[in-house]
Amino acid sequence: MQQLILAADLGGTNVRMAVVSPDGTIHFRARRATPTARQGIVDALVGLASECRKATEHLGRVVSFGVALPAVVDFASGAVSSAPNLPELDGFAISGELSARLGLPVLLENDATAAAIGEHWLGASREFKNIIHITLGTGVGGGLILNGEPLRGVDGTAGEVGHICVEPFGHPCGCGSVGCLEQYSSGSAVVRMAVERSAEFPTSRLTRREGLTAYDVYKAAAEGDELAIEVFRTMGFYLGIALGGLVNVLNPEAITVGGGVANGWDMFHETTYRELQYRAFQRPAERVKLVRASLGDDAGTLGVACLAIKDLAKAA
Ligand SMILES: [Zn+2]
Repeated sequence: MQQLILAADLGGTNVRMAVVSPDGTIHFRARRATPTARQGIVDALVGLASECRKATEHLGRVVSFGVALPAVVDFASGAVSSAPNLPELDGFAISGELSARLGLPVLLENDATAAAIGEHWLGASREFKNIIHITLGTGVGGGLILNGEPLRGVDGTAGEVGHICVEPFGHPCGCGSVGCLEQYSSGSAVVRMAVERSAEFPTSRLTRREGLTAYDVYKAAAEGDELAIEVFRTMGFYLGIALGGLVNVLNPEAITVGGGVANGWDMFHETTYRELQYRAFQRPAERVKLVRASLGDDAGTLGVACLAIKDLAKAA
């Protein structure tokens, strides 16, 4: 019987889990809403794991478990160092607890880095070795692959692209700084900017709308709404500023862009590319490819599955 990997992506809203074989085939998927307490999160992961195991027991045996989570991971201890979006996990040795309850080796990875690894393994950047992966979701995440290996930094915090300053006296950020990329190019920023600028576009259908979402702004832009188009142009402009700097520093072959806001790709990628070209040195700017990520919501689960598979190969 073949070996199978359990792979989870623990987000602030949902926990997704998949059963993956070593060639990257996803055999089964399950999801639940993310519980609010620490024990609830562990119970949800254990419950999903048994659902996944039961559904695929005819295919093979689950031998390892990878978990992507929105956190800085302490790789030595298998604990969560800090998780601003899931603060109940701060300091929690989650891999030890999951391993004891499931009888499996458990490995953790930061979700943005996991998405970069997934796209590099089976997605839009699979033919490259030096990649920046950007996730434009509620916030802005980043994962870096250099010479084919993820870059985590000495404290596991590398890749925090969302907190590069793009506007020195700009909007305050949750990280304590001001003018971070996340305040201009995330889903929350798209909504905020649509509200802030609505007075300039009195005829926009978005003006004075309650409960606006980034998806509403995207739909309006696709239908030609001038306010919505301007908001996406602005988010793309700031993204290009950050990427221009990163291209100068890292000289990557490709930048992949995923996450919910990437649905608006047609609305911003030309502005982003133009700004990147304007700000980066000529040679790295000409080389770098700016592409939309291709794995969607599976990038993170496939990323941790890839790590678990490499780990098994190392142990064998
Ligand atoms: Zn910030």
